[in-house]
Amino acid sequence: MIRHAVFGHPIAHSRSPWIHARFARELGIELEYRAIDAAPEYFVETLLDFAEAGGSGANVTLPLKELAAGLCAELSEAAARAGAVNTLIALPGGRWRGDNTDGLGLVADLERLGVNVSGRSVLILGAGGSVRGILPALLSARPSRLAIANRTHARAQQLAAEFAGLGAVAAIRLDALNDPFDLVIHATSAYRGDAPGALPRGAFGVQTVVYDLSYGDAAAAFLGAAQALGVRAVHDGLGMLVEQAAAAFARWHGVHPQTAAVHAELRALMGR
Ligand code: NDP
Repeated sequence: MIRHAVFGHPIAHSRSPWIHARFARELGIELEYRAIDAAPEYFVETLLDFAEAGGSGANVTLPLKELAAGLCAELSEAAARAGAVNTLIALPGGRWRGDNTDGLGLVADLERLGVNVSGRSVLILGAGGSVRGILPALLSARPSRLAIANRTHARAQQLAAEFAGLGAVAAIRLDALNDPFDLVIHATSAYRGDAPGALPRGAFGVQTVVYDLSYGDAAAAFLGAAQALGVRAVHDGLGMLVEQAAAAFARWHGVHPQTAAVHAELRALMGR
């Protein structure tokens, strides 16, 4: 029996066990995949217990992704650039290799949705850990320009400087967003709950496609506010969740699962 898990804090809400069980069933793989709650101060020992019990692969989510990167013996290029790991692969000797499949997951979901990045103008709102994870994959899809705007402008500037070697990326102040972008990616943890702050209106036009990395209730306020500005095409990040899981599954099992039916079933399960 292959033993995998997702670690986070909190983690009870996670859909990863359902997604991985679904992939494994489709491919006839016997897999136990659990959700394990680990506060940051207990993560190292909880992961050790998991490995001693035969655990050979794990996903890692908030707030443990940076911690996970720090305890890996090896990092993929994506994980090293992000400074964050969402996929752990056991190596001999109780060591771990860390990877980050968030960027692949986002780009695969945009492709699935028919949203073109190549030659388009893209704005990312936010400059946190997830943006670090998605920037290399987005830049390799060759947008005409990629702008980062964030509440704390200095963080956007730092990211733009760090990733400038990979493509056309620049930081822009929120109050300087006067022209509509082809694609706006929302990657902040604001807009949770019922009191969304002001949207940078100038960045949105009727043709703008809006993608929120969050999903479910966490995405509803931002996407609703974008729709109120006249935006017609809005997407939440549930598809990215499935696609980043598929990329992690492929690393562990050597086979990339089919995802089309999984997207539809998961959305039905969530009642959205
Ligand atoms: P971080 O905590 O690293 O970054 C948070 C970001 O949100 C920062 O840019 C921060 O700005 C900004 N922010 C927080 N509060 C506010 C506010 N009130 N007003 C304006 N900006 C604010 O989070 P992550 O980057 O890791 O995650 C961002 C979102 O993406 C989360 O909701 C997460 O769930 C989602 N996500 C979804 C994935 C999927 O598979 N679908 C994968 C990964 C992430 P500042 O720098 O000024 O503090």
